Amino acid sequence: MNPFSTLGIRHDIVNAITDLGFENPTPIQEQAIPVLLSGSNDFVGLAQTGTGKTAAFGLPLLELIDFSKNVPQALVLCPTRELCLQIASDLNNYSKNLNNVHVVAVYGGASISDQLRQIRRGVQIVVATPGRMLDIIGRKAIDFSDVKYVVLDEADEMLNMGFQEDIDHILSTTPDEKKTWLFSATMPAEVRRIAKNYMTDPFELTVGKQNTGNVNIDHEYYVVRARDKYAAFKRIVDFHPEIFGIVFCRTKVETQEIAEALVKDGYNADSLHGDLSQQQRDKVMKRYRDRSLQLLIATDVAARGIDVNDVTHVINYSLPDEIENYTHRSGRTARAGKSGVSIAIINSKEIGKIRQIERVIGKKFTKVDVPGGFDVCEKQLFALVHRVHQVEVNETQIEAYIPRIMDEFAEMSKEEIIKRFASLEFNRFLEYYKNAPDLNAPLGDERGMRSERFARTSSRGDYTRLFINLGSVDDFTRGDMLGFICNNARISGKAIGKIDLKGVYTFFEVENAVADQVQQNFKSVDFNGRKVRIELAGDREGGSGSGRFSGGGRREGGSRDRGNGFRDFSGNRRERGGSGRSGEREHKKRW
Ligand code: AMP
Repeated sequence: MNPFSTLGIRHDIVNAITDLGFENPTPIQEQAIPVLLSGSNDFVGLAQTGTGKTAAFGLPLLELIDFSKNVPQALVLCPTRELCLQIASDLNNYSKNLNNVHVVAVYGGASISDQLRQIRRGVQIVVATPGRMLDIIGRKAIDFSDVKYVVLDEADEMLNMGFQEDIDHILSTTPDEKKTWLFSATMPAEVRRIAKNYMTDPFELTVGKQNTGNVNIDHEYYVVRARDKYAAFKRIVDFHPEIFGIVFCRTKVETQEIAEALVKDGYNADSLHGDLSQQQRDKVMKRYRDRSLQLLIATDVAARGIDVNDVTHVINYSLPDEIENYTHRSGRTARAGKSGVSIAIINSKEIGKIRQIERVIGKKFTKVDVPGGFDVCEKQLFALVHRVHQVEVNETQIEAYIPRIMDEFAEMSKEEIIKRFASLEFNRFLEYYKNAPDLNAPLGDERGMRSERFARTSSRGDYTRLFINLGSVDDFTRGDMLGFICNNARISGKAIGKIDLKGVYTFFEVENAVADQVQQNFKSVDFNGRKVRIELAGDREGGSGSGRFSGGGRREGGSRDRGNGFRDFSGNRRERGGSGRSGEREHKKRW
């Protein structure tokens, strides 16, 4: 039997959600559906976005409502237009095999007359943002006297946005006997107050640990000087060629500035903030969903309710003013069982904030070094190779040119051709990153940091930096590498300093006193049938022809990153929206 049927969901709905790819209930669905289906409880669900909570309340609603009557029986309140549209569309999808289901989405920034017309025609489920709902109630255009269920979705967000009074007012127009189902990612005092004032002995359900970010999210931070922040940000993006990210800034001005700078530098980016008109917002979101944008630069308020799957990275260009917002930001990635990374780019004075966030989310951050130019070039090169593998060949279109192309290359070997094609793009990366400086804040700037096992390079001069021809592609972590070196070189872990694990090689530091011993003891070491080589890093990092790319990409010294990114080869250009309505409510609470 289908597991949703076992939970009590009727056949027609199970068929519809099967079409959506729902095979097994998510934890919140499994636990909430049987409780809500009884229709006799108030309910508080603590759950992040992306856990499947829309179906957790949506499926029971569809079971409980009498669709033979065309009167509002359920009201779903949510913080944003995007979420409102999403919930209405989800409910329509779940109920596509049922008859006479009428769901209306009521939200600001769109024609009220259309919404009023739909309400007049008769609806059973109203999904609304508080402001517009209040407007419609004020016009006496809706009768909530038959409402049996009220859902408050993302209650903490609604309160953050200052909707408390509106919610109080809206709820006062619904019958006292109704059941209230509240969902929230966090449980601040204001949400507790709502639960206390409007609910009787609610059934409480926590999915995952309270306040804990999604389990599949890795949290990372980079420490840079304030003046290097933008350059470091670009470097991090360049190091992740397949990134599909949301970048959070603190203010509208900052989002615009960053988006404009990125576009100038050739990236596919645009901004989303409260000064955009609804049409402009929709346009930006459509481009992001369609993936013509790779980076969406957003304020906290504008990004609320964004439900885009497959976001690979959330980047905190600026940390949020309020710690709770970090949870909301990072929850935009790792949705629907996927994994994701949440990155914070901070200066050394903000390390305390990272520790505070760690306490709130109950998870540790990993400190990561800003990649060097050399590392970025390597990453980009292999991304290029990967794209060559993946590219779809349009046989019919290219066919006519093939004989001439073959002719042109007739004299060259396969190796030569591959080298030349790769170099075509790669030379640009090398040129751009030539003399790229180290953007990590120097150790002295990191006062207040707890010592970390793999802290940055020791400034003491008593270490020798060595190269080894094994790296992460050989499935080594830094911990594995430490063990591997200690065992084979027969030295203590204490004699090892920084370990810089790269793709196909690693740089590591050892105390000068044991440097020779390490090189000697590794002379006859094999790894998976491959000879392990250890050399002085200086021979690899500096001088001519060193490293894997003798084209000349050096990591240290010289000028800071220039404005010209090399992403212009992507060919995607964005069009800017002009100014529009301002209606964003910003809620600021200092750390
Ligand atoms: P939500 O938390 O409701 O925003 O859901 C997050 C995402 O998970 C949405 O894209 C849903 O379509 C998807 N989803 C919800 N429930 C399931 C399920 N049981 N199986 C697979 N995907 C689901």
